[in-house]
Amino acid sequence: MSTSTPASSTSVLVVNSGSSSVKYQLVDPASGDAIASGIVERIGDALGSVKHVAHGDTTRREVPVPDHAEALRLVLGLFDEIGPDLASANVVAVGHRVVQGGDLFDGPTLVTPEVEQQIEELSPLAPLHNPANLTGIRVAQALLPDVPHVVVFDTAFFRTLPDAAATYAVEASVAAEHKVRRYGAHGTSHQYVSQQVAQILDRPLEDLHQIVLHLGNGASASAVRGGVAVETSMGLTPLEGLVMGTRSGDVDPAVVFHLHRNAGMSIDEIDDLLNRRSGVKGLAGESDFRALHDLVAEGHAGARLALDVYLHRLRKYVGAYHAVLGRLDVITFTAGIGENDDIVRLGALSGLEALGIEVDAARNEGRKSEPTVISPDGAKVTVLVVPTNEELAIARQALDVIGA
Ligand code: ADP
Repeated sequence: MSTSTPASSTSVLVVNSGSSSVKYQLVDPASGDAIASGIVERIGDALGSVKHVAHGDTTRREVPVPDHAEALRLVLGLFDEIGPDLASANVVAVGHRVVQGGDLFDGPTLVTPEVEQQIEELSPLAPLHNPANLTGIRVAQALLPDVPHVVVFDTAFFRTLPDAAATYAVEASVAAEHKVRRYGAHGTSHQYVSQQVAQILDRPLEDLHQIVLHLGNGASASAVRGGVAVETSMGLTPLEGLVMGTRSGDVDPAVVFHLHRNAGMSIDEIDDLLNRRSGVKGLAGESDFRALHDLVAEGHAGARLALDVYLHRLRKYVGAYHAVLGRLDVITFTAGIGENDDIVRLGALSGLEALGIEVDAARNEGRKSEPTVISPDGAKVTVLVVPTNEELAIARQALDVIGA
């Protein structure tokens, strides 16, 4: 990540508050640069850790961080002590990432008491995330009361999914009462990347039929027609869809009944199994793809199978979304694995030549920190790598809301 002195006179503080961590970034929305960034981790443990990156230097501290209020106080203290000075950085808004906006939010929204209450009401749909997001919002408002706070929802970009894509074929009255439908996630990244693609290719967004593959620890695919999301792989929660670092992605729901009835596992144990002990980690023992490739090279059968299952699922989704879109112009890889892992990019799209999808091995090679075309010249489908930047997207959406 690049850090620099502000190129414009305003900045936005972006806060991503998790259950035991707070990530933050002070963004110059004009240049897109991160002026400073950091993370507070292990909130609530005996000893927490703080990392603050500013002026090209990294400061690390190990201190007790009992709660989110102390975490954000620590962050503001580091800005005071090490810089940059928040007053001179002219923070015009605080942008908060919120995971679940349910069917209530289709775009970024100014925080009001009513909005806070709605985020709370949506907590049953994201019990680990929304309460932590809300705590971060409340603490940040108390500490920075003079700037507007804006929430940006991970689900908002997918409010446009057609009913045919968003609906589970589950008894309608039960689904309606309990808000069981497909909401998607990672929407800020899918929206940002699909808009970037149009700029990079210098083509109108309205004309493009795109597939975006966001492959990080969590992974999701989306189909975007003319800038509008029409399909995505995550559902009620981020568990559905692609194979991920520790999540299974798609399984027959009957796996849950089977494990409950026959293995005596509780619902909480199965939740933990499918969200934290499955995916690539569950098959290979490692969730990081660098370690996974090392194991494959050593001949580890579980790692080979994990990679094959991961690539097979990706290829299957690409084919399905090609069918959903009817015509396909662009496939874009983004996030930690999408930007850095040439083996995954090549493997995921191999065998799809009949669909006009090809990757040029030489162009694909290596990590990509800049937008890069990796398909051959003249290919029917352009394959791209585009680095995502959720913080910048949140900062710019926050500015849109406050009209700056
Ligand atoms: P998230 O934001 O979901 O936590 P990221 O988008 O940061 O995740 O992606 C993290 C993942 O990216 C790591 O777990 C690792 O598997 C993968 N990754 C990062 N760097 C590389 C690399 N050089 N080669 C292969 N995979 C990488």
